[in-house]
Amino acid sequence: MSEEKFYYQTEAAELLRMMISSVYSNKDIFLRELISNASDALDKRRIEALTNSELAENTNPEIKIEANPDERTLSVSDNGIGMSRDELIKFLGTIAKSGTKEFLKAAKDSNTQQELIGQFGVGFYSVFMAAEKVEVITRKLGTNETYKFVSDGEGSFTIDEAEPRSECGTTVKLFLKPKTDDDAKDYSEEWTIRGIIAKYSDFISWPIFFKDKIVNSQKAIWQRPDSEITEEEYNEFYKHLTHDWRDPLAHIKINAEGSTNFKGLLFVPSEAPFDLFMNPESGGISLYINRVFIMNDCKELIPAYMRFIRGVVDSEDLSLNISREILQDEPIIRVIRRSTQRKILNEFRKMLNDDREKYIKLWLAFGKILKEGIIQDHEHAKNLLEISLFRTTANDEWTTLAEYEARMKPDQKGIYCLAGRDNLSALKASPKLEPFTSKGYEVLLMTDPVDEVILSEANYILDENAKDLLNIARDDVTPYTDDEKKANDEKAKELEADFEPLRKKALEVFADKLENAKLSFTLTNSPACLRDSQNGMSLQMENILRSAGQVPPVQKRILELNADNPIIKKLITLAKDNENDDRVSDFLRVLYDQAIILEGAAPEDPAGFVKRIDELMTLALGD
Ligand code: ADP
Repeated sequence: MSEEKFYYQTEAAELLRMMISSVYSNKDIFLRELISNASDALDKRRIEALTNSELAENTNPEIKIEANPDERTLSVSDNGIGMSRDELIKFLGTIAKSGTKEFLKAAKDSNTQQELIGQFGVGFYSVFMAAEKVEVITRKLGTNETYKFVSDGEGSFTIDEAEPRSECGTTVKLFLKPKTDDDAKDYSEEWTIRGIIAKYSDFISWPIFFKDKIVNSQKAIWQRPDSEITEEEYNEFYKHLTHDWRDPLAHIKINAEGSTNFKGLLFVPSEAPFDLFMNPESGGISLYINRVFIMNDCKELIPAYMRFIRGVVDSEDLSLNISREILQDEPIIRVIRRSTQRKILNEFRKMLNDDREKYIKLWLAFGKILKEGIIQDHEHAKNLLEISLFRTTANDEWTTLAEYEARMKPDQKGIYCLAGRDNLSALKASPKLEPFTSKGYEVLLMTDPVDEVILSEANYILDENAKDLLNIARDDVTPYTDDEKKANDEKAKELEADFEPLRKKALEVFADKLENAKLSFTLTNSPACLRDSQNGMSLQMENILRSAGQVPPVQKRILELNADNPIIKKLITLAKDNENDDRVSDFLRVLYDQAIILEGAAPEDPAGFVKRIDELMTLALGD
């Protein structure tokens, strides 16, 4: 077969142009990326050989660095898994990295492009910061063909068959750019190379040979005492492990000794990857047994609601030939999982107490996911609820339940909560808050889908003597004292006869939707609002079920009409004079739809709603 030419897709070409013209000061990272890829390739080969008996074990796994200052070349070789022809095209010819589009956009909009490049960590492509041409020679494990990939990073690359490699694996050879000035680093120079490896790649578990000597300590970072390791080393290890380009938010070290021995080094990423919610499979913990890599994304080691945590768990107590299938039933894995879980929660609580700012970052990125644990993990539900942060009507800060309790009024029966839509400012405008905020009570605002479920279960989770979480969407939750309630009841009684025709009309118009219509003395601004009956399902919950493809049972609600509102007052009179006046039912429909809209839902009959509003406007404007 002869040489074939390919063109990069637009995104890749754009990224490459950026790399070539880069004046980013930390070009060193390209070598970190190449060594990281070589290390991954050796891991993959090991695993492949374990599961496929036809493949021989790699007896001398190694990463080799060679440099030639005269020719200005530098190469990184491994005898790992290698790549097939198709894989070469797929892996090095396209960019599958999540967030590339976002990155390119950010880089275009900003003046800090150079800094962004360093943060983004473009993997293989970073070679073009240092090289004017790259040659990749590779032979895939279990095959006999060797292929050569060549690119100058300018829009295209070629692939050709090459001289057979004696062993599977990959060599990446860089033809370095000419030195521009005396200050610039020379990447073919021995001490430059040694320095970079020491700084970024020391922990790589495979030997890195340079000038026939091993130049990395190969010490697993999680095996070393915490006091010996710098923050930078942790960060570099995290980046190697996750291929994230940002520093992690925090790291957690676990050193368990006793009946089960294991070590763990876990990281909280600084931001949620954008596919975290769509793809619960992403992320994960790598399992090592006695420093030997076994598998990544080992789900058995961590509960689903901690799926954003990344890192390594290493135990000597497991057998090396453990398989994914038997993990679940392995008692040691269960012990590890339990203690890892506990440790993480302890660390989170510590962070909440000692470094609130950091914890808020964690919460913003992963709070939604962590909260799933409140309903999934009965053992830790209370703990999780205690470290949960909520929005509140009291201020623009985040608050915990305990902090809310400390601010509660002495006569307050419980923690007032309102769950609603994603949109905090819309929730803040809910008419349901009016009776509470007008009396000076604070209400917790809950905007995540899972909050609704939490609200309905929290009182079973919390201690008996803990303050109840009271859902103010419910008809039976009010901020009134017995005396005030009595006074309201009396006022309602006085108006009862006058209100009756309107009440009957409302129940007739919304026969299948309303359990009752009531006059309310608790709303301050809004003319109407919908409340959930004591045992009924909330509108939010209905929406959650619907979006999950289920058909919720029919719920009847209570329509509250503000007795002090001029519109309601007139409507009462109108219905009293002639309950069959069309305007009565039309206006009731508008009021009902308004209440629905304020709940963050859409009117069932949008066209009808619009038509009625149009008619009202025509009326108001006159002929
Ligand atoms: P990332 O390493 O973040 O996935 P890269 O651009 O560095 O991104 O590499 C892309 C892919 O190319 C890797 O995921 C891997 O599948 C493949 N690859 C790169 N280097 C090697 C190598 N030395 N041996 C085998 N495969 C490699």
